[in-house]
Amino acid sequence: MNERKLHVALHDVAPKHLARAKRAEKLLASLGVEKATFLAVPDFHHEGRSDLAEPFVEWCRGPHPLEIEWALHGYFHVEENAPAGGSARERFDRAWMTGGEGEFLALPAAEAETRLREGVRVHESIFGAAPAHFVPPAWLWHEDLPRALAAAGIRSFEAHKGLCVVGPDGGQEWLLAPVISWATRTLARRIGSLYVCPALAFLWRETRLLRVALHPFDFDWSSTQASIEKLLKAQLETREQVSLAEALDPLVRAPSRS
Ligand SMILES: [Zn+2]
Repeated sequence: MNERKLHVALHDVAPKHLARAKRAEKLLASLGVEKATFLAVPDFHHEGRSDLAEPFVEWCRGPHPLEIEWALHGYFHVEENAPAGGSARERFDRAWMTGGEGEFLALPAAEAETRLREGVRVHESIFGAAPAHFVPPAWLWHEDLPRALAAAGIRSFEAHKGLCVVGPDGGQEWLLAPVISWATRTLARRIGSLYVCPALAFLWRETRLLRVALHPFDFDWSSTQASIEKLLKAQLETREQVSLAEALDPLVRAPSRS
């Protein structure tokens, strides 16, 4: 059994990106990716509820050329009314880690819970089941998020540093697992990613679980897509693919969760 695992995710799956998501899944299947987590946004940038967009819903329900686990990814995927000030970490994350999309970065428990419950409803109406996993946009989260997730019945989430299983009272059990993702927001970031992503893959070659996260805009750039293909091909030769449920398995089994 291969001790080194690979988890692949596609972020920002919403009607706006339907054509890109279709291209992404085709590419993943052609590379031999057999399982991936797709992150669905209930109302991406206020452009309309995903469950009301018929072609999108039809595609979500399948069939698909690979095994897909669906997770909830924010609600609007945009941060509004960002508080002035906030902690130093918040200010840093807001300035450097996202282009205004850290929706859950400063949301306190009550507001986060309301938005999560709405998200669960939209998710259920598309997939016929509640999401088990949540990914805050740009992986940015407020310390109240675990409690809000527990209240909304969602049992795990993830951040830059790894995956976290949430206990009934909001307790956290972390599995540290680095993530590689390509940036395309600016020319400098796009070019930089072509060098940084392979370097990170080399740096993290021995890590037990490596996450690779793709975004719809990656597929607008042939150089980014070529970089993704090369990196994934190499990872698939040396790592065993795992679904999210399989990646979380060691945490779910952990007896110490509180
Ligand atoms: Zn996202």
